[in-house]
Amino acid sequence: MQAVKGVRFTYRPSSEILWLFKTFTQMCNDAIRIAIAQNASSRFDLISESYHHLKRYGLHTHYILNACEVAYAVYQRWRKDAPEKVRQILTLPHFRKRGILEELVKRRISLPFVRRPFLKLDNQAYRLDYLLLQIPVQPRKFIFITLNGSLYHRSFLADKSLKRGSITLTDSIITIAFRRNVEAIESLGQVGIDVNERNVTWSDTQGKTEQLNISEVAEIRERYKAIRAEIAQRTQKDRRVQQRLLSKYGKREKERTAQRIHQVTKKVVEHARKNKLGIVMEKLKGIRKLYRKGNFQGRSFRGRLNSWSFREIQRQVEYKASWEGIPVRYVNARGTSRNCLCGSRMEELEGRRMRCPSCGREWDGDVIASKNIMAAPLVRAARPSACSDEGGTRR
Ligand SMILES: [Zn+2]
Repeated sequence: MQAVKGVRFTYRPSSEILWLFKTFTQMCNDAIRIAIAQNASSRFDLISESYHHLKRYGLHTHYILNACEVAYAVYQRWRKDAPEKVRQILTLPHFRKRGILEELVKRRISLPFVRRPFLKLDNQAYRLDYLLLQIPVQPRKFIFITLNGSLYHRSFLADKSLKRGSITLTDSIITIAFRRNVEAIESLGQVGIDVNERNVTWSDTQGKTEQLNISEVAEIRERYKAIRAEIAQRTQKDRRVQQRLLSKYGKREKERTAQRIHQVTKKVVEHARKNKLGIVMEKLKGIRKLYRKGNFQGRSFRGRLNSWSFREIQRQVEYKASWEGIPVRYVNARGTSRNCLCGSRMEELEGRRMRCPSCGREWDGDVIASKNIMAAPLVRAARPSACSDEGGTRR
């Protein structure tokens, strides 16, 4: 099994690097236009269609290949999500003859583009000598960048068993993808993880339970929601200022929440690794879980922790687990917070407590949810309407 991990290094970009970002982004956007105009059917198709045009930017061939890769991914996603009227223009032959781009512009259909200046290079394009990164600009002309590395960061560079993949550069961060082959662990049990508004609760087959507080994440998100609303109101007349401020505060918000989520997910995965446990989580569809009954929460409170945090927690658990060879599986969310371990439906008590009328046991709502997740049967891919009888509400 191959695991990939993106390790983020900070650095100080030179003006030359910033110029390179701009140029690369322009190349990506040119290639996207060419992909649309030429109805590109593969990345290689796009490379051959746009090679001569992109060559004029004067950068090393690596940039053309990587710009086409980025452009083709953006183009494909856009095409996949395009509404019917756009798809018609893209596929009908008479539009092809007249010029697809002109037709799309005439109909005021917005075209996809890469906004954020960045640079992505495959592992053939760069060289890394410990903390010194060498990237080509033109044939035989290079830029050298010194990465900042903590002990943790440097341990990845020193590890000879790791293979280096592509690198992604933004104006403050360079992310290097490391790959390694891991043996899947023989799990001795399971740990079920329940993600909530205030905490991440896990329970394992050895009878241990822990609640990790994440109320801070919800508070940060709530605070930034107010900031965003204020920005939107005050900058109504200037969309460019608005965009700039929103992206600046969005970045800060993400950094602050990500830090806390990182600590929590690291702790859970570490427990699974030490005790050789497989990880089980709820399969969440968007934010449906937030509207689960019996969450002891008012409507306004439920809406607070949005789907991003949920998905981010699960994503981090999943990639940290895969790096350690820990198997991760997903189960249906149905009934996890309402049913007792004996299978009976429980009654709600005060203060997030639940009581089982059959066996008399009392549970904390989040603890029982994690125990049920741990013990739940595997989700089968082919069970599309497992909860349709509930009228869209989770129990
Ligand atoms: Zn019971």
